Amino acid sequence: MLGCCPVAAGLLFLLLSRAVAFDWTITKFDNRDYLPLDQIARFYSFTQADLTSDIPTLSGATLRLQGGVNSRELYLNGLKFILSFPIIRVGDKVLMSRMDLSKLVEPVLRPAKIRGSPVHTIVLDPGHGGFDQGAQSQFGSEKDFALDVALRARQLLVRFGYNVRLTRASDVFVPLEERAMYANSEPAAVFISIHFNAGAREDASGIETYTLAPRGVPSSNDDFLSLADFRPCVGNLRDGENIALASAMHSALITRIGGPDRGIKRARFVVLRDILIPGVLVEGGFLTSPQDQLRIATPAYRQLLAEAISQGVRAYSRAIERGNPDVIAKRDYLTPESPKIWDPANQNVYALPEPKAQQ
Ligand SMILES: [Zn+2]
Repeated sequence: MLGCCPVAAGLLFLLLSRAVAFDWTITKFDNRDYLPLDQIARFYSFTQADLTSDIPTLSGATLRLQGGVNSRELYLNGLKFILSFPIIRVGDKVLMSRMDLSKLVEPVLRPAKIRGSPVHTIVLDPGHGGFDQGAQSQFGSEKDFALDVALRARQLLVRFGYNVRLTRASDVFVPLEERAMYANSEPAAVFISIHFNAGAREDASGIETYTLAPRGVPSSNDDFLSLADFRPCVGNLRDGENIALASAMHSALITRIGGPDRGIKRARFVVLRDILIPGVLVEGGFLTSPQDQLRIATPAYRQLLAEAISQGVRAYSRAIERGNPDVIAKRDYLTPESPKIWDPANQNVYALPEPKAQQ
């Protein structure tokens, strides 16, 4: 019977709220809050914690978290993330920044708790266009390869029942601010910007996925904070959804295409910073790398990129549904209907990459 005994109801509420509270020990270091990995292990029900080596590892039945002391690399089930701040050791404790726990580990391990908006529309954003060619290889321009991938992805996503909008569907120049405004006219949508990379060195290769840096953390490609890192961005309203979408997308890309896995990174690109919907920017390989430029020039490779993008969207949609216990960082998104990978001879596609501690 309802409302029979307010005292008992109050007591029950107290007990319940006590049951869900968790006693975190916060350590201040460099003016930032840090939390011990052994408590993180307990909170997320990892059954094993190896915290004695410089490669701290937490493992459970279906989940493995591995980092490096003084490193910003973190692997969740083999998927590479770039942390906002390095994991540190203070005394006998290995610590992770509170920012990384709340803005990365939590939304990726418990995406259903984000309460993200359902996804009906996908805004695809092929980078560059018109006079802005983007990066170049001897086989073609970034602007053309990006558009081709977007058109292929559109076809697949429409087949899965999504509305699909393109910021450009032909070889025209569209300013970045206009692309963001276009994204903001679409409710219940996610934004996927498609690019290819250029590196100063020929040996830079592989896939990376960017999403917006939370307020107060450096971009992944910067080692130090700057004042601009504290400027508020509208895109930060979607921090939880952003990292969940990036994980789903990157997981699908790496599963389909293989390495090198350059990781899920943070940046403040205009098209990520100024949008009201969750967004990612995919770098589908390096046009300056001898191997990557060959595969990017192949329609089969661009089709795989498109398939991974559509697979990533569906994985994200499923993961944010309330009550869905899925962990979003998986390297096993390869489903029976999608058995293709870029190089079937490459057994390493399924191997767990090992973290390298930064020097
Ligand atoms: Zn680009």
